Amino acid sequence: MSVSTGENTYETREFQAEVKQILDIVVNSLYTDREIFLRELISNAADALEKFRYENLTNKNVKDEELPLEITIELDDKEHILTITDTGIGMTREELIENLGTIAHSGSKAFIKQMAEANQKDLNLIGQFGVGFYAAFMVAKKIRVLSRSYQPDAAGCEWVSDGIGNYTIGTATDLPRGTKIILELKDDAHEFAGVETIKRIIKQYSSFVPFTIRVNGEQI
Ligand code: ADP
Ligand code: MG
Repeated sequence: MSVSTGENTYETREFQAEVKQILDIVVNSLYTDREIFLRELISNAADALEKFRYENLTNKNVKDEELPLEITIELDDKEHILTITDTGIGMTREELIENLGTIAHSGSKAFIKQMAEANQKDLNLIGQFGVGFYAAFMVAKKIRVLSRSYQPDAAGCEWVSDGIGNYTIGTATDLPRGTKIILELKDDAHEFAGVETIKRIIKQYSSFVPFTIRVNGEQI
């Protein structure tokens, strides 16, 4: 379905069948170690920053060249929202559809099989199967991704999903380069908007990330 409001086109698209299967596993089961979702998001942010750094070695025609390469986490303990932002390579509309709505490699089949067979489901390995982003749906009832590619002419985009069946994609104006991921936390996951909890998780799982990480303004 496609709805046009002036220049903006919002479109609802279905996840690929394999993505639906993964989301089904992630959303509907009980897990230990839910906190690894943050490691996956930080690892994606660091990858995106590294890709930008590499591109920028030879290409100076990029959006917002002066932006520092860092990862920012903002926590809203009242509204139960965790936001993670990077100033990395960003994604175009096509890349959002491709990267967060489909799986082009075979790793996901192995993951689905392993999860189906496991008694105590342990999502800790999700990143190794190349589907780490979806781990965020362990803790989030709704995810918004705002992204702006490094390419000067690309439009900013918004991707929204509750992880069930489909997602909506539209344009977003005035975004800086990079990606902002906004997690509306599930009722039983409010702890992940707590500063001390998040600082502990970062120290535990992401201490070797080669970029500055800030949590509510404080450098970790
Ligand atoms: P993997 O990191 O193993 O490729 P993920 O499920 O974690 O698998 O992420 C899927 C893809 O989505 C990444 O390969 C990347 O292309 C894209 N992506 C996710 N997060 C970001 C981000 N913060 N910035 C740019 N691209 C991203
Ligand atoms: Mg990843």
